[in-house]
Amino acid sequence: MKPKLINSIDEMSAIRRQIKGKVGFVPTMGFLHEGHLSLIREAKKQTDIVIVSIFVNPTQFGANEDLSNYPRNIERDIELLANLDVDYIFFPTDEQMYPEGFKTWVNVDKITQVLCGRSRPTHFRGVTTIVAKLINIINPDLMFMGEKDFQQLVVLKQMAKDLNFRTKVIGCSIIREKDGLALSSRNKYLSSQGRQKALCLNKSLLLAQKLFNEGIVSSNKIISQMTDLIEDNESIIDYIEVFDPKTLEHIPELVSGCRIALAVIVENTRLIDNIQIL
Ligand code: AMP
Repeated sequence: MKPKLINSIDEMSAIRRQIKGKVGFVPTMGFLHEGHLSLIREAKKQTDIVIVSIFVNPTQFGANEDLSNYPRNIERDIELLANLDVDYIFFPTDEQMYPEGFKTWVNVDKITQVLCGRSRPTHFRGVTTIVAKLINIINPDLMFMGEKDFQQLVVLKQMAKDLNFRTKVIGCSIIREKDGLALSSRNKYLSSQGRQKALCLNKSLLLAQKLFNEGIVSSNKIISQMTDLIEDNESIIDYIEVFDPKTLEHIPELVSGCRIALAVIVENTRLIDNIQIL
């Protein structure tokens, strides 16, 4: 059945209040791919009613970022969500979410200043603010997010805990193409050569795991070899970081269970990826 498309905040909240079963929520910016769909399948498994939001949130984009070019295709998104038997699509306008006079921000300290926060200083404030608003409107039991945006997942778990939201945040594994490229709406910006170069993100993460398996634990040594691999692919490193997955703090030596994340600019597109070292 086609999901019900809801544009109004009041209607969304009213419908939610009528729902008796367990509600699963998947926030997205649309232009859906298998990564998003995997979250929805998980939500279908764990809850009775699934609500997906599609909102390209302007406040999480920096001034020189790709807000106006961000890929959109609501008709195709609706079709994909119908195939998965999603119950409701919440598709509000910018004016609904940020009416004139909007003044309130949700800000998580410290863990938003590292990794992606260094080059995108206002990004997470936008993410936490919109997700807090969506949680207040939808009041989900469970919210499903991808580990692809690992820092975002950690930040939102922290927010939910600190602000006593009843919603539980569930992290889901990264979905990749067969050749290892993590699915992302932004992959659309890449030319076919860029698409090949972009494999360097996943390849460098796999190299890190290989080096660790061979007994190399120095973060600096591993980052240096990852850097060579990425630069050989004519791509620009924003950051490569080895960190504790709970605190997001840098660790000088790899241990099993730590994470490595990176952001790399391929052609003009900033891509991110990460791995849990086993
Ligand atoms: P976005 O539309 O990019 O804001 O992403 C919406 C949600 O989908 C976020 O929780 C992302 O982490 C998740 N997501 C995006 N790409 C992937 C992927 N390749 N694998 C798993 N989850 C993903």
